[in-house]
Amino acid sequence: MGKGDSIIVAVRVRPFNDREKTRNCKLVIEMPDEETTVIRDPKTNDEKRFTYDHSYWSHDGFSEKKNGYLEPTDPHYADQRRVFEDLGRGVLANAWAGYNCSLFAYGQTGSGKSYSIVGFKNNKGIVPIVCEELFKQIADNKKKNMQFEVFVSMMEIYCEKVRDLLSSTPPPKGGLKVREHPKNGFYVENLTTVPVNSFKEIEAKIEEGTKSRTIAATQMNATSSRAHTIVKITFNQKSSKQAGGTSMKKSEINLVDLAGSERQSAAGTEGDRLKEGIVINQSLTTLGRVIKALHDSQKAKSGKKTQIPYRDSVLTCLLKNALGGNSKTIMIAAISPADINFEETLSTLRFADRAKSIKTNAVVNENQTERALRELREENLRLQSQIQGGTAGDASNEEIEKLRRQLAENQKEMEEMEKSWQQKIAEEAAKHASGASEKVEMEAKKKKMCHLWNLNEDPALTNVIVHFIPVGESVVGNKPTSSGNFIQMSGLSILPQHVTLKNDGNNQIHLSPCSEDLDIFINGKPVHGETQLQQNDRVFFGGNHLYVFNNPTKKGIRTDITYENAQAEIAQNHAAALGNRGLGGGSKRDLILEEELMSTLPLVQRANAMATELGRNVKFEIVLVSPEMRGLTSGLTEIWVKVHNISEDTYFLWEKSRFMNRYYGMQEMYEAKQDGSEDWNMPKERDPFYEPPDSPVFIASSVVFLQSLAYLIDVEEQFPIVDLSGQEIGLLTVGLSPCSTTGKELRGEYVEDPDQLIGKNIAFKVKVISAVGLPRRILKSNCKYRFFGSKKMTTTATVSGNTPAYGHEETFQFKPVTKEVADYLANSNLYITFWGTQRPRGASSRKNSISTIGSNEAREGPNKAKRVERLVHQAKTSENRNISVKALETVLKGVDDNENRKTRKQSMKKAGSTTIKSRSGSKKPKAK
Ligand code: ADP
Ligand code: MG
Repeated sequence: MGKGDSIIVAVRVRPFNDREKTRNCKLVIEMPDEETTVIRDPKTNDEKRFTYDHSYWSHDGFSEKKNGYLEPTDPHYADQRRVFEDLGRGVLANAWAGYNCSLFAYGQTGSGKSYSIVGFKNNKGIVPIVCEELFKQIADNKKKNMQFEVFVSMMEIYCEKVRDLLSSTPPPKGGLKVREHPKNGFYVENLTTVPVNSFKEIEAKIEEGTKSRTIAATQMNATSSRAHTIVKITFNQKSSKQAGGTSMKKSEINLVDLAGSERQSAAGTEGDRLKEGIVINQSLTTLGRVIKALHDSQKAKSGKKTQIPYRDSVLTCLLKNALGGNSKTIMIAAISPADINFEETLSTLRFADRAKSIKTNAVVNENQTERALRELREENLRLQSQIQGGTAGDASNEEIEKLRRQLAENQKEMEEMEKSWQQKIAEEAAKHASGASEKVEMEAKKKKMCHLWNLNEDPALTNVIVHFIPVGESVVGNKPTSSGNFIQMSGLSILPQHVTLKNDGNNQIHLSPCSEDLDIFINGKPVHGETQLQQNDRVFFGGNHLYVFNNPTKKGIRTDITYENAQAEIAQNHAAALGNRGLGGGSKRDLILEEELMSTLPLVQRANAMATELGRNVKFEIVLVSPEMRGLTSGLTEIWVKVHNISEDTYFLWEKSRFMNRYYGMQEMYEAKQDGSEDWNMPKERDPFYEPPDSPVFIASSVVFLQSLAYLIDVEEQFPIVDLSGQEIGLLTVGLSPCSTTGKELRGEYVEDPDQLIGKNIAFKVKVISAVGLPRRILKSNCKYRFFGSKKMTTTATVSGNTPAYGHEETFQFKPVTKEVADYLANSNLYITFWGTQRPRGASSRKNSISTIGSNEAREGPNKAKRVERLVHQAKTSENRNISVKALETVLKGVDDNENRKTRKQSMKKAGSTTIKSRSGSKKPKAK
């Protein structure tokens, strides 16, 4: 490797994905030479420069060969072969030399970690090529006195639990145990280790592991991007000496595909009491801390030992050698090229930069078998006497247990050493038929028989599960039936008998739901009765199961179906069915919104399904919240989640990031229950479904017209208070007074044109006086708004009751008024938002009464000009130059009532929000 023992760090940038293309993303990465990566901040255009051992440009400059391989058309482009030649070759050479090697891939979800490590189809990644080459080289090196052994294991770390991916028995409660061996360090107890004889066998094993990952992710409702996958290959070279005895070189190769590195946005946890309760990914967070500690201690040099927190997570225990011990280590940092991922990419580049300085200390693992055996025997004698002494003496049970375990481990190691390779292979073969032929069989079957294949948000887990549909009737469900054909699907929302699939023998397949109210969708549309499946149909069985139907005896099988477009059609049909504004309007804003909706909708559905299964009386619902609704004058419509706690009859609004945080907590709780854990049921303060009534919640908002100020007219007006579903729930009384800069209210100094204010020193007083009609459940509330140019939100006092008198006054000075200020007053509105705490049901009246106070007051609309004209006219002629509500009502009486209502509706749609009912959610809570 030629660089001493520093970790080798490579950065690789992938092409734009579909999402980035439709969004017209800008490229922010440049790689001017083979080592340098430059990232540009899309906001400021500032550039940051990093150097690594390798900077791989895989963004453009390639074309797709017939067999799907992406080959360079420009020498700048780094293809899979090149990455293997640079990094994989080194891994192989080190394995032959008897070093331990580790290769890990870091980066946000979708950045290309799996692509580099495992690869897709003909674009094989490092793992398969290393394995293939290893067996080739073994074949080339076969000598009489040499014996080669290769073993493989595969595991996943999810929520600090280790799952054996090659085990055929059900996983133990709480996962496999991680133990520490005094000499060899941390290891996973009872992890399946399979001897393999060929590349085909190892490939079949990795496929088997991927399949169990997919099944577990679907069943546990887990997000695969949050799991770490480790493939471990052990390579032993045994040579018998002429003088007798054998020596063995041993290399352990750890290939680690890390969980997505995306950080939780701070906004999501801000003010959320639960933030301590949910550990998003302890292993990944700890890895960051370990790398930082190693980096700092390397830099400090002064011999000052820093404590490295390896023990704080399962992943860092298992990677201890890879990071700071006996290993030659390589890190690939995968990055997105797009501006929208700038923050994440920068954070990945920084992480990779810190990793560069870390040094490991690899040694050749070579020993004389006979001596090793002798040492193990001696140690075991010592252990035995210690155990005997301990049981008699004062050693704790725990210590004795530990000694016993060590003894057992040693014994196992000795047995393995004494067993011949042929014995090991024969034992493995006896366990089950070879996996390789199974796969061939399945591929052949796929060409003949109707089947469903799975879609997963992770492309690596897509088309991994296949269900064949034989002639006759098959039941799909989570409990095998005693008779007939059965297709197992487990997890969220799947009933013991969910649907039946009938194959009439001519490859006509009919699907019938077993119950009326199931969430079954075909191509995004709900189905209730018997339906015949057509070629390429996307079938959503509820919860987490999405499949594509193919009839291989017929033409027209599509190859372009992805998880994303299958989700998109569900979201689109969903929105359309609710009569919502057409999504997919084509503008960038619409695209972003559609995409957000698409990614959030399935999560909200699953959250509802989890709530039902965990006995939480809570309903989640997506709401689209306009920037105006949030008290902002500009910005994008956002997706928030409305939470209705039915037992306490409280409502909350979570921003998407907060929902995501909570969602992960729900997943963990669900998984703990599935896992049979006794303490899955969280107390209220740690329950991700629960929000205490005194958490501040967004209630509603009001749009306040400012035009009067543009004409220096003093008004006191009432404005409708509109809740998220666009309903008028009450009225807010606001006073707006032009003032001198000393605070004296100006009366009668109106102007005819707002431009006349420009250059004058004027102050504007905003009075948030009182509100009526807030929901009864509101205990205390306050209002927030942002006046032109203010950096901070202005907040009123917090007042009890549903007819609060806020009595708030704030003066905003302009010395002088600029054109922007004059324009703002003349054309913009002040968006006032209401926030409050709630009283849970039982504490007061049970009804969620939201009084609607009839008002004909129009919000903004085409009558604005006319309205202003009248207002000014009134002001001029009125004795009392302070325009009152009465006067305004008189002004508005002149406007046609019908038109008025229409205008109001339109403007509310614009300023308000749209509610989207989740498919599996309850009826939208209707305000009365
Ligand atoms: P991760 O494992 O980091 O979540 P993936 O490896 O699954 O990301 O990559 C996401 C998508 O991007 C996949 O469809 C993959 O094929 C594609 N991709 C990633 N890296 C490259 C690359 N270097 N060249 C072409 N496509 C890539
Ligand atoms: Mg991946």
